[in-house]
Amino acid sequence: MKKLDKKAQEQYTGGIKNFCSRQEHRRMGQATRTTKLALSLDKRDQGGANSEKCALLDATVQVLTQARTFYIDLFLAHADKLAERVAYYSEKHAEMRERAISANELLTWAEACTVETQEHPHPWPGWNFTEAFPALPFVYRRSVIKDAIGKVRSYLSNRANWQKSGKKKGRPGLPGGANHPTLYEGAFSLELDGLDRRKTFVRLKVYTGQHWKWVNYPVTYSRYFEQRRTEPGWEEHSPKLVLGKHAASLHVSQTKEVRAKKIIESKRSPDLVTVAVDLNVKNLAVITVRQRAAIIETVFVTDHGLDQQRYRHLKRIAKKQWQSGKPVKEEHSNQQLWRHVRRMNEDAAHKVARRIAQVCARYPGCVLLFERLRKIKPKGASKSRRMNRRQTNQLRGKITRYAREKAYTIGTVTAEVNPHGTSQYCSRCGSRGERFSLRDGKRIQVKWGNLFCCPVCHYEANADWNASVNVHHSFFGEWHWQPRLKRSG
Ligand SMILES: [Zn+2]
Repeated sequence: MKKLDKKAQEQYTGGIKNFCSRQEHRRMGQATRTTKLALSLDKRDQGGANSEKCALLDATVQVLTQARTFYIDLFLAHADKLAERVAYYSEKHAEMRERAISANELLTWAEACTVETQEHPHPWPGWNFTEAFPALPFVYRRSVIKDAIGKVRSYLSNRANWQKSGKKKGRPGLPGGANHPTLYEGAFSLELDGLDRRKTFVRLKVYTGQHWKWVNYPVTYSRYFEQRRTEPGWEEHSPKLVLGKHAASLHVSQTKEVRAKKIIESKRSPDLVTVAVDLNVKNLAVITVRQRAAIIETVFVTDHGLDQQRYRHLKRIAKKQWQSGKPVKEEHSNQQLWRHVRRMNEDAAHKVARRIAQVCARYPGCVLLFERLRKIKPKGASKSRRMNRRQTNQLRGKITRYAREKAYTIGTVTAEVNPHGTSQYCSRCGSRGERFSLRDGKRIQVKWGNLFCCPVCHYEANADWNASVNVHHSFFGEWHWQPRLKRSG
């Protein structure tokens, strides 16, 4: 078997953690996904019946941010505590050993210093949490302490790395208290009854400004949500309350243990199926499936005019910016149009990614192939065209990321291959070819023509399809995609 260059063997998984087990030649990992459950709230500016309930959510998030800040300050003031080593007896080695202090031990320590209990009736002066936040439910308190530990730990390690680097720029900023609150048991409950909308709600413990009480919030129930929640193999974690400017929702994250073969192992099988994706503008994705050197399936995913539509919107945005004469501050001008454009992109990315994952699902044990994304700086042309190119590049990145994640949940591993020349070479004989378009039945040679023609073997094909087939060649190191010889000296 030919060796690939190192970068082509890079493997990607959707999860946070993964580890190898040598005996099994399998890669264990964890796939994660998030499902959103929207709370149905009336529009705030219209002062609907729910405006009071919205205010309660705001007040809750606010007081939790203050509580989190309290504990961030505590841990920053006692940074040495986080670095503490704890002695313990190791059964395995039959001796005393040392380890880093755990998050749970830090939590217990923080509570002992700051919370009035029978055992600790006098919290540290200046750090009396019970006094500062009377009656704050203990589940919320623990949730903000855990957040604070995470934030301060990551700040301290970033700062240490920065100091080690010796750079002057890029000093990490102090952690802030804002966060989406995590809802542990005791702070929320879901009452979902698909048949009766009145019985479909989420119960949340919220802050009124004086005290804490339970309030029911209606939710937009969907079968999609229920189906994902109850899907076997997925473990559900505590949801996060995400409060936006215009909406509120619960984000429920789930994880799944995934076993997938390592790519290097898969490659040994002569029956290996590879699914290659070429990402383009009009054809958002051209998916080709190859087994035993033959293409056995092709799927074209077109953009249904997305590029044109987006271009029109961006033209309007560019015009408005020009008229108002303001500097380009994308987030602040034309907010609504930008939001719309972003949503269009997000939507398209998920749809294309789903199509790719569906193809992978038909070939268990297959390997999904993408080209490593090139960073092309949009230049020339009009401003709106440049903005549109930038959006296209972002869309490609999103499709790759989402497809990789979705495929991984069904055990498909993704590899990125060297993109060099995939659109210029003949997928049949490997010679350098030309791209052209047909206009009034005549061939016109253009750099980005939609057709490909090989001068050597006279092969003609759709240019994007040709590129997609070349992705397989790149993966297997065939023809001019030879491994690079190491230069000596
Ligand atoms: Zn050819």
